[in-house]
Amino acid sequence: MYVFSRAIYRELANEILEEPRSERQVSHRRVLRACEAAVERLATDRRYFARPARTLFNEIRAYFAMSAQQRVLRVIERYLALADEFLRRLPQNGFDAYGNPLRCRASTRKGTPCQRMPLAHNGYCPSHQHLAETEDLRVPLAA
Ligand SMILES: [Zn+2]
Repeated sequence: MYVFSRAIYRELANEILEEPRSERQVSHRRVLRACEAAVERLATDRRYFARPARTLFNEIRAYFAMSAQQRVLRVIERYLALADEFLRRLPQNGFDAYGNPLRCRASTRKGTPCQRMPLAHNGYCPSHQHLAETEDLRVPLAA
């Protein structure tokens, strides 16, 4: 997945504003870390990550000149869309993009995470499907 965050960073690196006396390239590292965090969240928490491009843009826009803002947003949108598409095409073989096994999003009655394999369309295992139904009911109310 780091292919995508590195690509965003590389495209923008020349335009990152750095404090004149900063020797350790603080801004560069913050931008790179924000890109990595956004892509990682896209890979592991897509369902709850509503506007990835906007979120990342808001996090790093302060490191760029006003004249670069449009381009920064476009680069972010382009690569996050590619990452999103890549993730959608991954076979649903029980592992996320980092090779971690997928788990049901629910907790058991004892309060421990459910260990069962989730269904692809809602992230719950067959015994916890009812939780997805109540979740769907909340969406129109919030919108
Ligand atoms: Zn479950």
